[in-house]
Amino acid sequence: KVTLTTAQGWDRGGTGVGQGSNRGGTAEEKGRDRGGGCYRSLLLASFPPHLKLKVYLRVADQEKDPLFWNTWAQRTLKNALILQKLNQNTAKNLILFLGDGMGIPTVTAARILKGQLSRQSGEETQLEMDKFPFVALSKTYNTNAQVADSAGTATAYLCGVKANEGTVGVSAAAVRSQCNTTQGNEVTSILRWAKEAGKSVGIVTTTRVNHATPSAAYAHCVDRDWYSDGEMPAEAVQAGCKDIARQLFENIPNIDVIMGGGRKYMFPKNQSDVEYPGEKKHFGTRIDRRNLVEEWNNRMKNKNAYYVWNKKELLSLNPNSVDYLLGLFEPGDLPYDLERNNETDPSLTEMVEVAIKILKKNPSGFYLLVEGGRIDHGHHEGKAKQALHEAVEMDRAIGHAGLMTSIYDTMTVVTADHSHMFNFGGYTPRGNTIFGLAPMLSDVDQKPFTAILYGNGPGFKVVNGLRENVSTLDYEENNYKAQSAVPLSMETHGGEDVAVFAKGPMAHLLHGVHEQNYIPHVMAYAACIGQNRDHCMSSSGASSLSAALPSLTALLTLIRLFC
Ligand SMILES: [Zn+2]
Repeated sequence: KVTLTTAQGWDRGGTGVGQGSNRGGTAEEKGRDRGGGCYRSLLLASFPPHLKLKVYLRVADQEKDPLFWNTWAQRTLKNALILQKLNQNTAKNLILFLGDGMGIPTVTAARILKGQLSRQSGEETQLEMDKFPFVALSKTYNTNAQVADSAGTATAYLCGVKANEGTVGVSAAAVRSQCNTTQGNEVTSILRWAKEAGKSVGIVTTTRVNHATPSAAYAHCVDRDWYSDGEMPAEAVQAGCKDIARQLFENIPNIDVIMGGGRKYMFPKNQSDVEYPGEKKHFGTRIDRRNLVEEWNNRMKNKNAYYVWNKKELLSLNPNSVDYLLGLFEPGDLPYDLERNNETDPSLTEMVEVAIKILKKNPSGFYLLVEGGRIDHGHHEGKAKQALHEAVEMDRAIGHAGLMTSIYDTMTVVTADHSHMFNFGGYTPRGNTIFGLAPMLSDVDQKPFTAILYGNGPGFKVVNGLRENVSTLDYEENNYKAQSAVPLSMETHGGEDVAVFAKGPMAHLLHGVHEQNYIPHVMAYAACIGQNRDHCMSSSGASSLSAALPSLTALLTLIRLFC
């Protein structure tokens, strides 16, 4: 039994493909080069009559009226014209949302999913990131890799320098896993530049807090897998290389907000976990027997600092009386949002809300790195539904952060580190459920196929020498692994450019096809931190500073008088 289900609630007529839908008739359709009649005949002929397809193709009434499209486009044009007046304020706050593995096909599919979750057709839906006025492309390659990994790319968009895959916070002169190539090759991140400029800084992730993406913000490590000394080769420890968990607490003094997973890397080896007592796989991993959480608590004793490990503790805090927060909610990564226990684990949006409330108390502003880290994991497992729900949740967090900040003093950038071998297509009709089938059988093996497919990965399946028939499976189930062209136990990253969405002060400087390491240079420039600050003091520079200039001049005069 094959049925193509569609999102409900959208205005659909219920005309089936085989019953002569109005899709075949419009002039627009006829004029479009999409394989033309070939496509249509394939569509009509390839489904045997017993496979009754429920494909709804009726166009919403308003969309039949040219006025609808003209009005929408004119409204968009009006908004674009307003953007010609550039926002050249100084960014007091900087927020970077990083969707790990969130390539452009993932963005589009997440948009459709988001719409369909609110009973829309989906394609016309706007993600929160879609509303950002400036969009650029980012070239993601690492210095030694055409298809990048999350460590080398994190070094690029956090430290402003491209690097080798597998390394964090070190330049391309450092070689992966070679401890003695660390020293002298360290590069610092925008999180550090912000901290040194007096801003509060935060890291929020759905992965381990010492995973590749967040670690480039504070660590200098030739191997992203050196989570704690328990994962390091003994020679590297002896040679003085430090594990990433330790560097989280030792490199940048007092990172104001740290939230995510990764508890086990902070505790002595074989120590039982507070949430999963007795479960061996969650035991502490530290061979040096240090308890980094206890050390943090002791160091922060005289400050308004709190360590929390579950959602209840997190939400019971009053952010107004919290200056430092360490939240470690799982021994490893946080669960997928679809599988999250709403009682014990906070959502990404909930973490972001608390983080911003704490950080924004600093009158000098803040830098916040937010990672939707498990989009990548969903894709690696071939589980598109998990990946897309992670992307939708990150988009919700983006919207929430937007409500808590202003474009007049906060620059927000949304991007990905790299893409995946994920895609969707197959001439699916409007409103086709994003996890559904293409409206035709293959004319080669006469079997249906899902719109979502992977170039490689664990979804490859051959039964008796033939491609598996997906109609016998529940392909809309949470953990369904979409078919792939090449069998691999783990699907791989993709090599194409990713999008960069930007809003707020100086967002217009993200405007073309950029190297990925350009991103922190723009963000630092917007905030008058880091290496390029000449514009901050000139009269043509940041407008918020120009208001402060007269008093600054008076102060300088006073100093001259007294010296
Ligand atoms: Zn990955």
